[in-house]
Amino acid sequence: MGRYLLPVVLCGLSGLCVLDAQPDERAAALQRIDSRRDAYATVAKQIWGFAEVGFQEAKSSALLQQQLKDAGFQVKAGVADIPTAFVATYGSGKPVIGIIGEFDALPGLSQEAQTAARHAIEENAPGHGCGHNLLGTGALAAAIAVKEWLASSGHPGTLRYYGTPAEEGGSGKVYMVRAGLFNDVDVAVSWHPGDRNDASPTSSTATVTGKFRFRGIAAHAAAAPERGRSALDAVEAMDYMVNMMREHVPQETRIHYIITRGGAAPNIVPDFAEAYYYARHPNMRVLDGIWQRIVDAANGAALGTGTTMELEITGAVYNVLPNEYLSGVMHKNLERIGGFAYTPAETKFAEDLRKTLTDAPDVALGSQESVQAMRGGAVMSASTDLADVSWNVPTVSMTAATFVPGVPAHSWQATACAGGTIGVKGMIVAAKSMALTTMDLFTDPTHIQKAKAEFDQKRGPNFVYKTRLEDRKPALDYRK
Ligand SMILES: [Zn+2]
Repeated sequence: MGRYLLPVVLCGLSGLCVLDAQPDERAAALQRIDSRRDAYATVAKQIWGFAEVGFQEAKSSALLQQQLKDAGFQVKAGVADIPTAFVATYGSGKPVIGIIGEFDALPGLSQEAQTAARHAIEENAPGHGCGHNLLGTGALAAAIAVKEWLASSGHPGTLRYYGTPAEEGGSGKVYMVRAGLFNDVDVAVSWHPGDRNDASPTSSTATVTGKFRFRGIAAHAAAAPERGRSALDAVEAMDYMVNMMREHVPQETRIHYIITRGGAAPNIVPDFAEAYYYARHPNMRVLDGIWQRIVDAANGAALGTGTTMELEITGAVYNVLPNEYLSGVMHKNLERIGGFAYTPAETKFAEDLRKTLTDAPDVALGSQESVQAMRGGAVMSASTDLADVSWNVPTVSMTAATFVPGVPAHSWQATACAGGTIGVKGMIVAAKSMALTTMDLFTDPTHIQKAKAEFDQKRGPNFVYKTRLEDRKPALDYRK
């Protein structure tokens, strides 16, 4: 860290030389983050300990709001009809830059911090297996550093921190976009915990999620089975048809489900059963067709089993629209910050943790010390509701190596990293890279112009944003 000596003069396509934030201002911003490192580590650990799942992040959201209020932001909470969503604002006028924070945990991934064996703190309890405790806190650190720079430099503009709940399957940001909260934003800046330091422009899969509920007729399963109509049969018939469908969908498709209700007792024909489905594809329009076939399978299953079906769409996100220009700005700043080294104890933990992985890791231990080379055209098969922001506002994101190289997100190994010192080291890299990038956006208007030009060109003149959630209210109980 601290590799911060590169020149800051850039020449735009206009031929005019423009200045990014001055070296001493940059150094001061990084210093502010370093000086509060322990405080940010504490916030991240507290949110990790709360481990609140989507739309139930009351304590996590309140803690971040308090930090922002204490730092001089004005906080508006409970936005977009979501109790845990908030927007914190500092400054006024243009440009408007939004920094994105998340803080929801995942069900069932409770795990002791920095422990290389599966030990849940509480069996089946939630855990931060996607590192959103770090995501929200790293974004907080960046926002406060930029705010203090705005205050001391007198730069015009508005800085916002978006407290965005329920990223994991709850589509929290989609409701916030739909409520118009991003309408005046020029650029959105974000990051995500990962197993490498990387600012490459990366797309994702679009996703639709929903709960298929079947209702039949209960009966004694031995004495009068002919009087019953099994809702569980309908779930199984649907799953069977969808599983056959996998052979006949495009290769990049992902379909997964769980059975959330399957009846009360084997000797009662189940009159209610429910399957919770996700379907994903890198293209929203292709996904629309796949999803319709899944709905058709559900209707067919109901018809064939003498039950009825009702569907609740619980989540829907687009694929991410990457912005290569903005990724270049972020990459340059990430390289200024650089990666980080492990202590001997962290190295031992990392080696032990890698032995617990099912597959040989595709990235070497030690790679957290450097920054990945920029590559274009990457598409991750996971999804994020940041995508819906990215189709409305030029958006940039990066990953930092908060997880031991090779550790996938949504695993107990990730929870173990997100609660420990390695997670904090990665979080600080992200906070600094985002702070410098945001300062560049405030300082040099050509960044925003170029980002918007690419954004307009990629969206095309006829694009109309339309969430598949339509006008449903936020699915505040989707985790219940
Ligand atoms: Zn995540």
